[in-house]
Amino acid sequence: MALKPWQKGTVIRIEQETADTRRFWIQAEGNAFDFEPGQFITFDLPIHERPNKRMRSYSIASWPDGTNVFELIIVLDKAGLGTNYLFNEVIPGTELTFRGPMGVFTLKMPVEKDLFLVCTGTGIAPFRSMVQHIREKKIETGNIYMVFGCRTKADLLYYDELTKLEKEMPQFHYLPTLSRERWEGPTGYVHQVYSRYCEKKQPAQFYLCGWKGMIDEARKTLLELGYGTHDIHVEIYG
Ligand SMILES: Cc1cc2nc3c(=O)[nH]c(=O)nc-3n(C[C@H](O)[C@H](O)[C@H](O)COP(=O)(O)OP(=O)(O)OC[C@H]3O[C@@H](n4cnc5c(N)ncnc54)[C@H](O)[C@@H]3O)c2cc1C
Repeated sequence: MALKPWQKGTVIRIEQETADTRRFWIQAEGNAFDFEPGQFITFDLPIHERPNKRMRSYSIASWPDGTNVFELIIVLDKAGLGTNYLFNEVIPGTELTFRGPMGVFTLKMPVEKDLFLVCTGTGIAPFRSMVQHIREKKIETGNIYMVFGCRTKADLLYYDELTKLEKEMPQFHYLPTLSRERWEGPTGYVHQVYSRYCEKKQPAQFYLCGWKGMIDEARKTLLELGYGTHDIHVEIYG
């Protein structure tokens, strides 16, 4: 697939979501910025003299709505060059260079089987996009299990929105899972949670997104449960 050309986008809004995570809204040039839920964009950030050291990719957290504005959700890596730039230098009005949309981590239609969306931290971005798109387009699906792992309640992302969505979409099961705090919801690691919902080994598609450790462990768990590699789709953040 040919690489998309670089283009300009203006940051039009920034919101703090948790202590170390922010939502960024970007307005692309032109009338509409079209993409498929699950795709990402790549920034060319002014953080290094060598172009290949300046690129940082981010999944699109919003869903296609016909406008030229899209949302990203980004966690600060205190030792990271790109996120320090985005958190400390970028303000509403800043113009950034990016290309996209790119990527094949998208829903494979028709979505008849159960869908497991397994993520930690900002790995939730493509899944929020997919589920909101399914709601908006009234796409028929099997059960959708969104298993989102983080440490404490204070780290939950899009919690109110997804809790509300669960009430609106009977097939959507939102399973936020805390690894370091007891609460009314599931605790432990994401692997224990999705394993419980696919014990019967029903036909299912698994989408895994986030950092390599979680994805390697999930892939191993799912293969042990008897699912095949063709049932598993991954987006690795690093
Ligand atoms: C397809 C895709 C989608 C993604 N989507 C998202 C998203 O939606 N949200 C999100 O938050 N992230 C996302 N990421 C991750 C994102 O691209 C960045 O990797 C992340 O933001 C960290 O970037 P950074 O520039 O701050 O860190 P970097 O500067 O790249 O550093 C990363 C880490 O490496 C270490 N490091 C750097 N240089 C050295 C060195 N010389 N020696 C030793 N250690 C070093 C640093 O300590 C740091 O902890 C995505 C990644 C991919 C590939």
